[in-house]
Amino acid sequence: MAKPRIGVASLVQETNTFNPNPTRWDDYTVLAGGDASDTLAGTNTEFAGAVSEIGRLGAEAVPLLAAWALPSGRVTERTFARLAGLLDTRLKEAGPLDGLVLSLHGAMATDSLSDADSALIEAARRRIGPAPLGVCLDLHANLTSRMVESCDALVGYHTEPHVDMASTGERIARLVAKAVRGGISPAIGFAKRSLLIPAEGMRTDLGPMSEVRALADSRTGSRSRVLDVSLFPVQPWLDVPELGLGVSVVTDGDLPGARSLAEEMADEVWHRRERMTTPRLMTPEKAFWEARGSSTRPFLMAHTADCPTAGASGDDPVMIAEAAAHGAGLVVMHSVLDPEAVRRCASAVGKRVRLEVGAGFNPAAVPVEVEGEVRRAGTGSYRLAGRSFTGRTVSMGEWAVLVSGSHHLLITSRPSITADPATWRRAGLDPGQADVLVVRSCSDYRANFPSSAPEAVTLDLPGPSTPRLESLRFRRAPRPLYPLDPFASASPGAA
Ligand SMILES: [Zn+2]
Repeated sequence: MAKPRIGVASLVQETNTFNPNPTRWDDYTVLAGGDASDTLAGTNTEFAGAVSEIGRLGAEAVPLLAAWALPSGRVTERTFARLAGLLDTRLKEAGPLDGLVLSLHGAMATDSLSDADSALIEAARRRIGPAPLGVCLDLHANLTSRMVESCDALVGYHTEPHVDMASTGERIARLVAKAVRGGISPAIGFAKRSLLIPAEGMRTDLGPMSEVRALADSRTGSRSRVLDVSLFPVQPWLDVPELGLGVSVVTDGDLPGARSLAEEMADEVWHRRERMTTPRLMTPEKAFWEARGSSTRPFLMAHTADCPTAGASGDDPVMIAEAAAHGAGLVVMHSVLDPEAVRRCASAVGKRVRLEVGAGFNPAAVPVEVEGEVRRAGTGSYRLAGRSFTGRTVSMGEWAVLVSGSHHLLITSRPSITADPATWRRAGLDPGQADVLVVRSCSDYRANFPSSAPEAVTLDLPGPSTPRLESLRFRRAPRPLYPLDPFASASPGAA
């Protein structure tokens, strides 16, 4: 018998609908065919995990497409049409497939589509016909009925901070390969709850969500028909219908069992909702006092409200002013997005400059004047080194380091991943030498700076990825929605 041919495609963008800046084609990195599998080989990505697992199982992996953009505002219609067209073309060119693994984020919205990922799943289904179609999603996906209806198996990351991207690709690849060979007949049950959890409250390494994750793992395994349980505490900056916590359960042919276990797990999360809160929310002034009193170095301040990996721009310079006001004498490393300021600094390396930075994208941010010496500048791509997306090649565009006293400001022309030590090192900065490291990150820093993470504080600041969910104006999300509204019933289903 010929080897089954299983296609692998990945189209990933996470939309923050509170960021008014759209995501365009130029924001994407797009790799096709063998270029995708060669470039991503060995990286901690779903694509790499799926391709290698399919080969290990004796099937032929057909690499189709890998496209990703950093989280940001809604994807433009033109960009989405081009991505969907590219996926369709690649599927057509691949010839008949026995199965397909589709890796998506699950929280992508366009100007007109609140659930753009479903449109991709349905388009892929039209092209491949009844062959087994498996979907893997980010833990922050907004699980929808359309997603579940258009595929045969669906799984998500099991970790937050995310460290299991490759193994998630392996899991969905195993289900698809088994289904292709007729070894299993997957059935997906899913449940929803009208519940939002702040990003900092959904970690799976400790606390309430780790308890539910452990329960889910205890119900999965070789001796049961439960093949996977995935929890989707949706990223909360997404104003769309059907918003809320999701749970998916894949069983071997037992749809009622899958549904009832999904409901049970959703209840387990719901009952713990009051414990899933943001820890140590602190004003910048208080945070600098904490840093002075702590022996942990670097002392991490998480500027979660303006976090590019949560879809914000990363251009709010407020922490530059706060560091100037409260961080004298401390070695502070921080960052800001400002393409124009980078250009000015690039031509002034070794010189002192005075310029306004930040607030070029977020209309609510206010620029800050900085003065200092441009220590160095550069451009080009580099590889991430942290436990999230290990090995993935990224770029922060052009960058410059401006030094004012003991404060080192990394200015970039594209959003940067400051939760990864490689970003700082790329700019000649060693985060290990910082007293205070300000990361624009909601949770990845926990995986990448494990010895600093327990003392880390979340800054109480406004922004598109604010931890204060009650400050966001939801118009399309179903109400009532916890924690925004009071609830009468103990365990509400999907609104
Ligand atoms: Zn995520």
